[in-house]
Amino acid sequence: MKLDSKIPEGPLAEKWTNYKSNQDLVNPANKRKIDIIVVGTGLAGASAAASLGELGFNVKIFCIQDSPRRAHSIAAQGGINATKNYPNDGDSTYRLFYDTVKGGDYRAREANVYRLAEVSSNIIDQCVAQGVPFARDYGGLLDNRSFGGALVSRTFYARGQTGQQLLLGAYGALSKEIHKGSVELFTRREMMDLVVIDGKARGIITRNLINGELEKHFGHAVVIATGGYGNAFFLSTMAMTSNGSAAWQVYKKGAFFGNPNFTQIHPTCIPVPGAPQT
Ligand SMILES: Cc1cc2nc3c(=O)[nH]c(=O)nc-3n(C[C@H](O)[C@H](O)[C@H](O)COP(=O)(O)OP(=O)(O)OC[C@H]3O[C@@H](n4cnc5c(N)ncnc54)[C@H](O)[C@@H]3O)c2cc1C
Repeated sequence: MKLDSKIPEGPLAEKWTNYKSNQDLVNPANKRKIDIIVVGTGLAGASAAASLGELGFNVKIFCIQDSPRRAHSIAAQGGINATKNYPNDGDSTYRLFYDTVKGGDYRAREANVYRLAEVSSNIIDQCVAQGVPFARDYGGLLDNRSFGGALVSRTFYARGQTGQQLLLGAYGALSKEIHKGSVELFTRREMMDLVVIDGKARGIITRNLINGELEKHFGHAVVIATGGYGNAFFLSTMAMTSNGSAAWQVYKKGAFFGNPNFTQIHPTCIPVPGAPQT
């Protein structure tokens, strides 16, 4: 078994920027011929599908619920970090990178965390453009607060319902692509299995939860964006769909499963029922 996370070469701060500048591009005329399956309509899946659709790919997106708006992302509260440094309290890309790696108990992939810190400000701009009503100060500028023990104020928030507002923004972008015809939405579908051909994920089997029928869908690529699995734990208030079913299916087909000992379950504070859940 070989672990290869395919992190690009080069100095940390340049890895993904260099990769983006040199990666193979798809001819715009050919994008329509490429089918991409996205499983999950939360913040991850909805935004990925909307962006892929906007780029010109042919996307199919699936969720268990009756609407993408019911993904568990709706429950997120606190906010989203970005290095805009509006309060001028010394924030920087490196500082957000450092705090995130430390907050992740030094287990995160550093190159990916650096990229996250680098694009964080663009993500806020994108969300604002999508209509996400982040909190503003009395002067009308976007407000920031300190969150999660950070020494700087870099959290953009929408009262205690940031996830809900972000999900509505992502859903709006997704709906635009559905209306355009670049994304096809399948609600009330549960992924039952991953189809692997020559070592590559090429499709999924779903169950139609309305009539019980099994369906098959082909894709040149499959994106698994099925969220957390807090319901695997005895005590959790997470949505019933946060059950790890898709993660287990892809694991059985050869995907790696990382750091199960570093899982955030909601609510964050719960009584200790025994040694495995401490
Ligand atoms: C109470 C709470 C507070 C939080 N606060 C913050 C915060 O302040 N800041 C922050 O950054 N993060 C916060 N988070 C975490 C953050 O909200 C989540 O990590 C993120 O929203 C997960 O998004 P997702 O798209 O990966 O998953 P989800 O939103 O859970 O979406 C999963 C999707 O996958 C679908 N799915 C699952 N299994 C299958 C299957 N077998 N077949 C088909 N579809 C399937 C579901 O239907 C759903 O559409 C919080 C989370 C919670 C619960």
